[in-house]
Amino acid sequence: MFVLDRHGHPLDPCHPARARRLLASGRAVVVRHTPFVIRLRDRAAADSVVQGVEAGIDPGSQHTGIAVFRAGEGIRTGLYGIRLDHRGGKIRDKLAARAAYRRGRRSRNLRYRAPRFLNRAKPKGWLAPSLRHRVDTTLSWVARLSRWAPVTAVHVEWVAFDTHTLSAGKPLEGVEYQQGTLAGYEAREYLLTKWGRRCAYCGASGVPLNIDHIRPRSRGGSDRISNLALVCVPCNQAKSAAPVEVFLAGRPGILAKVLARAKAPLRDAAALNATRWVLWRALEATGLPVATASGGRTKWNRSRTGMPKSHTLDALHVGDLKEVRGWPGRVLIVAAGGRGTHCRTRTDRFGFPRLRMPRIKQIHGFATGDLVRAVVPAGKHAGTHTGRVAVRSSGSHTVQTSSGPVKTSWKHLRLLQRADGYTYNARGEVDVTARSGLDGRPAPVSCPG
Ligand SMILES: [Zn+2]
Repeated sequence: MFVLDRHGHPLDPCHPARARRLLASGRAVVVRHTPFVIRLRDRAAADSVVQGVEAGIDPGSQHTGIAVFRAGEGIRTGLYGIRLDHRGGKIRDKLAARAAYRRGRRSRNLRYRAPRFLNRAKPKGWLAPSLRHRVDTTLSWVARLSRWAPVTAVHVEWVAFDTHTLSAGKPLEGVEYQQGTLAGYEAREYLLTKWGRRCAYCGASGVPLNIDHIRPRSRGGSDRISNLALVCVPCNQAKSAAPVEVFLAGRPGILAKVLARAKAPLRDAAALNATRWVLWRALEATGLPVATASGGRTKWNRSRTGMPKSHTLDALHVGDLKEVRGWPGRVLIVAAGGRGTHCRTRTDRFGFPRLRMPRIKQIHGFATGDLVRAVVPAGKHAGTHTGRVAVRSSGSHTVQTSSGPVKTSWKHLRLLQRADGYTYNARGEVDVTARSGLDGRPAPVSCPG
């Protein structure tokens, strides 16, 4: 739990049980419900020993993992895990829809409109809005965490796949993953993602996969990453040194797919490559020390600690480390959901107005997106529910809970937190105890005061 001093400056995070005791004794007050932040009333950061924490970021195109951990001499203790769900895909869809409306309007015979084209220039460093959103939300969460915890350094995964160094003929940077212990990790991980973790020729999944030269080396095929595919052992042996055109002669559909995919870069990797510089520069601009490391190193670190893959565990394993001693048992899923719409009319499928939405956002003190607690006295949904509310002008609001929507009067609701553009859910970390040699319980966390 995040802890602030009496002036609102961050102290080291503490264990939830400790926070409960502080609140019960009246020494602390609640600042924020999710993520939970308390403020101590009787302590100032200047009079306390603040160890500081570090943050690891595993940027992804759909989800970004963020881990807050204590670090000392290469030993990390995970304190807090956040999986940030981006809405880049939704932004792209909305912009595509807008472009289609505009295009339609232009060709419709409505009124004369002088043609406008070739009169726009994009500023240097411009990013598509769906990509810009990924950078902005990640930065916004780093800024928030720095307000709630004494973040002293940020470790960011440079990029999942360094596609430039993967393609042959380019000078590789840093010998450690050419000849060292990381050799092969980058390429293998890239191929696993590229071929969807299944055999490229027969589609088998959950079987051991070999790396196959699409154009065999005996026929002059190169070791370039675009000539490599992942295939199951039977397919690999059956193909042997035959050219792929001969091996897949009876299956032209699959042949075309394999050849097309071999050349295509990863869409998500391309999106990340476009944003990595922008994210890195923006993190540097925050003034925090920023360390970068490759995704291959993260995977290598994870293979040493024996932990499964998850966005938050990846974030905990970014960069140089010797050991991981503990991690939080629960992860906060933060989904960027937007802040509603300006549009006050809903249309039917012909584009005619179907219903008009109210011009005010708050109804009986609640706005759509607020986090509320509902205490329903009677009926089918009798009980206490916590979740995001959707308001109606009638005052009969709907609370979204993990077990479905609960509709109730505004009189039964209590506001926990105003809408901030995100929806929050907590979830258990992937089952780490089963596969890990370490003990999977969260490490005990010390606390100020
Ligand atoms: Zn196969």
